[in-house]
Amino acid sequence: MKIVHTVQEVREAVSAWRKEGLSIGFVPTMGYLHEGHQSLIQRAVEENDQVVVSIFVNPMQFGPNEDLESYPKDLEKDSLLCEKTGATLIFNPQPEEMYTGDFCSFVDMTGLTKGLCGKSRPIHFRGVCTVVNKLFNIVQPDRAYFGQKDAQQLAVIKQMVKDLNMNLEIVGCPIIREEDGLAKSSRNTYLSKEERVAARVLSQSLEEGRGRLEEGETSVQVIREIIRGCIEKEPLTKIDYVEIVDAKSLEPVEKVEKTILIAIAVYIGKTRLIDNFTFEC
Ligand code: AMP
Repeated sequence: MKIVHTVQEVREAVSAWRKEGLSIGFVPTMGYLHEGHQSLIQRAVEENDQVVVSIFVNPMQFGPNEDLESYPKDLEKDSLLCEKTGATLIFNPQPEEMYTGDFCSFVDMTGLTKGLCGKSRPIHFRGVCTVVNKLFNIVQPDRAYFGQKDAQQLAVIKQMVKDLNMNLEIVGCPIIREEDGLAKSSRNTYLSKEERVAARVLSQSLEEGRGRLEEGETSVQVIREIIRGCIEKEPLTKIDYVEIVDAKSLEPVEKVEKTILIAIAVYIGKTRLIDNFTFEC
């Protein structure tokens, strides 16, 4: 496995693989990798001849008061995880390699990006769409792997690929969790001991909501209140949103009658965590 830092080096590797007729899987990440990322890499290794993992904390997708400066990094540990999982290339560019001084082109999306995380992070998805587009152009993968953990991001990327006729397949992968249910996230590392215990409430509240749905509850308002109530019992939390939307359009629904996405974003202290599940009826 090789670690490269420039676009040129990725292009050279990709063009050599293409000459040999090899397929390419791609896993875009911001690094500080855990078993969630690993599950994506694992799937990419199973389905492709070569696997590229990008590790890039993309400044463009962070708002002014977000955690760009403090985002955790550990390239050495990341490269060990990639190597043992079977990735062939890590692309780890500096921001200047991705955004030269005269950079002025963006990929943006309406519709799917206006609710959920897009509401409290208004420039986030423009940054995500732009960087993912650039990474797709650099790596030119056959398949790219994204986690259902970031459900809105997955929907946005699928839509972008369809709208802009990009020639690759987007593969969505299930959420990997800690033993107590907390969705694995690089940001979990920000949590103090006390906050880490409090953070269990995200998955617990969703489980309560799921239980009521399975019992046949069809009122979105009731489910939302059950989830909110459960989160609010925990004093260290501040809810950003608890939303129940159509799983495809991400538009709010009033009744549970098709496949829905139940998505939450909650601050535990200063750390903003997200979680979700889809429910088919
Ligand atoms: P990030 O490094 O947070 O930008 O995440 C990179 C990719 O890993 C995204 O497609 C995420 O959805 C995915 N991912 C992050 N955490 C998890 C998890 N717990 N389970 C599955 N996929 C995840």
